Amino acid sequence: MKELEISNKRWIRRINHPALFLTYDDGPNPAVTSRLLDILRAVRGAATFFVTGESLDQIEAPSILRRMLAEGHTIGNHGQLHLKNAYPDFEVSQRRIEAACGVHTRIFRAPHGLKTHVADYLRRDRSVLGLHWTRHFEDWLPVDLAKVAKQISEVVEPGSIVLLHDGSPSSEQYRDRSQVLAITEMIATECQCRSIPLAGLASVYPALHRIRSESERVREDKRANRGSSVANSIATTISVFKQWCGSH
Ligand SMILES: [Zn+2]
Repeated sequence: MKELEISNKRWIRRINHPALFLTYDDGPNPAVTSRLLDILRAVRGAATFFVTGESLDQIEAPSILRRMLAEGHTIGNHGQLHLKNAYPDFEVSQRRIEAACGVHTRIFRAPHGLKTHVADYLRRDRSVLGLHWTRHFEDWLPVDLAKVAKQISEVVEPGSIVLLHDGSPSSEQYRDRSQVLAITEMIATECQCRSIPLAGLASVYPALHRIRSESERVREDKRANRGSSVANSIATTISVFKQWCGSH
């Protein structure tokens, strides 16, 4: 398959910045996320939570998202459904996040980090920014914490985006995230020792993470609809042309 070309300005893997960026995917997870927020509050650190639209079905989700915002964290969009083989409906989860806590986020991460999902969303909406990661600990599998402890000093460096998971409501095996709490404490301690701040992505991209007024919302949604109808009409024209070519 031809390699997709995505500008590294629209799909970020590292940031030229003095802070470390902790990111947590697939939540919120009521059993874990609040404990994580407690750890981050104790060290005065901020992080980014890439939440899925489906996880917002949980009754506790809106209050967890509001707490995240109140404590200076960033909320990113991880798609409505955590799918590999279909478009994750980023627009749906974006609207659901805004309905739950008021923030309009244009910072997203593709489920499974899939480049095709990144390209699909960037084609539909040129105002969004995809965030990949610099480092991870394979925390979707059981983690050897002794091994992680040896890696921490190397992983902690300014500008790194660290991928972790605070949950997945749709899969039982991801519910025990106690190892993620331990890894977070290790990273936070190392950052404190080396005076490296923990920051959320909204501190770097404030224009992409905003509470919108009603008039801004109406104006921007109208503009986005115009943009998507132009994109749809181009896609239709190309598909008609391909059919025409195929029939000759
Ligand atoms: Zn995920």
